[in-house]
Amino acid sequence: MTKNSRRYDVIAAAKSWSLHDTPAQQLTADINEIFGEHTFNMEVMREKLPKDVLQSLQDTIDKGKPLDPKLADVVAMAMKEWAVEHGSTHFTHWFQPLTGSTAEKHDSFVTPNAGGGAVAKFSGKDLIQGEPDASSFPSGGIRATFEARGYTAWDPTSPAFIIKNHHGATLCIPTAFASWTGEALDNKIPLLRSMEALNQQAQRALALFEVTNVHKVYTTVGAEQEYFLVDEEFFYRRPDLVTTGRTLFGAKPPRGQELEDHYFGSIPERVLAYMTDVEYQSYRLGVPVKTRHNEVAPGQYEIAPIFENSNLAADHQQIMMQIMKNTARKYGLVCLLHEKPFAGINGSGKHNNWSMSTDSGMNLLEPGETPHDNMQFLFFCAAVIQAVDEYQDLLRASVAAAANDHRLGANEAPPAIMSIFLGDQLTDIFEQIERGKPESSKSKDLLGLGSPVLPHLPRHAGDRNRTSPFAFTGNKFEFRAVGASQSISFPNVVLNTIVAAAIDELTSAVETKLQAKMPFEQALHAVLKEVIGKHKRIIFNGDGYTEEWQQEAARRGLFNLRNTLEAVERLHESRNAKLFEKYHVLNARELEARAEIMFDQYFKTVNIEAETSAMMAQTMILPAAVRYLHDLATTVNVAKQSGVNPNGVVKTLNEVNGLVDEFKTALDKLLVVNADLGGDTVHEKAYHMRDKVLPAMNAVRAIASKLEKALPDDNWPLPVYSEMLFVK
Ligand code: ADP
Ligand code: MG
Repeated sequence: MTKNSRRYDVIAAAKSWSLHDTPAQQLTADINEIFGEHTFNMEVMREKLPKDVLQSLQDTIDKGKPLDPKLADVVAMAMKEWAVEHGSTHFTHWFQPLTGSTAEKHDSFVTPNAGGGAVAKFSGKDLIQGEPDASSFPSGGIRATFEARGYTAWDPTSPAFIIKNHHGATLCIPTAFASWTGEALDNKIPLLRSMEALNQQAQRALALFEVTNVHKVYTTVGAEQEYFLVDEEFFYRRPDLVTTGRTLFGAKPPRGQELEDHYFGSIPERVLAYMTDVEYQSYRLGVPVKTRHNEVAPGQYEIAPIFENSNLAADHQQIMMQIMKNTARKYGLVCLLHEKPFAGINGSGKHNNWSMSTDSGMNLLEPGETPHDNMQFLFFCAAVIQAVDEYQDLLRASVAAAANDHRLGANEAPPAIMSIFLGDQLTDIFEQIERGKPESSKSKDLLGLGSPVLPHLPRHAGDRNRTSPFAFTGNKFEFRAVGASQSISFPNVVLNTIVAAAIDELTSAVETKLQAKMPFEQALHAVLKEVIGKHKRIIFNGDGYTEEWQQEAARRGLFNLRNTLEAVERLHESRNAKLFEKYHVLNARELEARAEIMFDQYFKTVNIEAETSAMMAQTMILPAAVRYLHDLATTVNVAKQSGVNPNGVVKTLNEVNGLVDEFKTALDKLLVVNADLGGDTVHEKAYHMRDKVLPAMNAVRAIASKLEKALPDDNWPLPVYSEMLFVK
């Protein structure tokens, strides 16, 4: 029998990996000492900048005042000095193009001088503006190739940072990226615009409540990041993982996550070392990582930072994903951020915890002890309820991507239907509002544990519901549909904009009643009552995974946008386009561009998967099956010659031959649909991928799984699920 012992070598290598192979490092420094040491933070600025410059920079950062360009030279000088002290030789404008990742182009500080030598130079202009050749970034048609110019512009509200490498360091300056016509080609610009829209509307609302000490309202985000770690020995033997980030083949192992023993289980030593390293680097870059634990699936983990202002949180999220990917290699691991690396095993999301905060330190979604008489909280909470109901489609579209389709709507967390989990206490209060004046709040009682040695714990007013895509969790909402690999920017652009619009509407409604001489409390109550009557259909506290909920949601008239294309079709629908335009977040062209890019990325993602799938089927799986057929056929002949009746082998031969037949037929079909793009426009191509290519790929995969279970283990050419998930 032909042995393919390569796979066993791989397992042996993965198994024998030892922590002692990595150089010992001391990663236990005092957090206070290292936190932010690689960022150009306030402390450094205080040390290096003249008082007046510092003051005006601080006004820009805290109050959003425009920065005097004359100051840029002074800041640039200080920044360069600091960066060079930390070993930087280069600087880069760091930005977030619409690919969803980050981009950088490094320039050296070195400038030749008249004497034939060189000096380190970095001017105010270098700091403020860059001009990357924009033509290779997606623009969704905004920028024709003849107008390839694009600009990056310094975002002084996000601190510059230093990325170290083996041989040096680079100063990274967070920037926004726009076309030369001023249209946003990135994720930062709309995020900042949406935060401003919310700021304006929330301040209007706070004026109703006679809150006068607030000069700025900003949104806050803390994103819990899920990810998988696999040994790199396995990774490199899987062309699908290398090329597409997910396994396109692989039968479900006899043991998956059924035992539920991984979640919060003790963290394997190698993984813990990795996590410690990631945290250490994050701290130095000012990323406030806070928690770490095992997730539900074997091989799956989570890391979560402390929440920050959304703009910073989005930048930090990108930095953290980069650190996670880079650091894994040091430990012989690969960090998979794909939404669904393993079929049949839990996918990875990024729970986007969101709230609104004032510069006076108030969380607008903090209910307090007695939420029923906290009308201000109820007002903002009602605005979120209205926003999510009115723009369910936008929220769904904000997280639409081919990879995320494997989670959303695929009987997994969370469903594609947008709904809100409010919990018992708040649902009860809103029901009271609908009936009349709210009189009470269901209390948070004490939880006795039945033993005198254990303390009594304060019980939360509501239990958790992990099946809801949008849940109130105490003093924030948690949007759970965001995918693990996605930038959190666009989902937050949508959240901020739709909530700004709802606050705007509710505020105006109250104002109108006040003008008609209705007393404030009565006006407020009337408006909240109306909101809840109109939008309570979006509230659902039950199990979001069930078939009944699908039917119930349909009865309530909620959207159920099952895949990316259905969702993106809604994104640029005219009502949504008007919303973005009204709040100056995205103009029609900018929105159209985003929809176009989403279609294009969908097409490309599936197309690459299909090519990879066909290639692996043809060159790895089919040959393995054919080798086995040959072995079986040979055995039959030899047995017959020896006068033995090879009944069992003949049966096996027939079975495997049947599978190979089916496999070849399915593969040919995949090759045919792959050869065709379905049309010329990106829309036609995207639909072709969804309707023809994906099903053909799935058919090939299904038979491959049967072959995986039928072929000799030492003949199977790919690391299998149980190896990748359980060898740590
Ligand atoms: P859990 O999800 O278990 O309730 P936490 O309360 O620790 O966990 O919060 C999870 C995430 O929510 C963390 O990233 C945390 O920083 C973030 N978070 C907490 N409060 C807020 C807030 N006001 N705004 C945005 N994110 C928040
Ligand atoms: Mg959470």
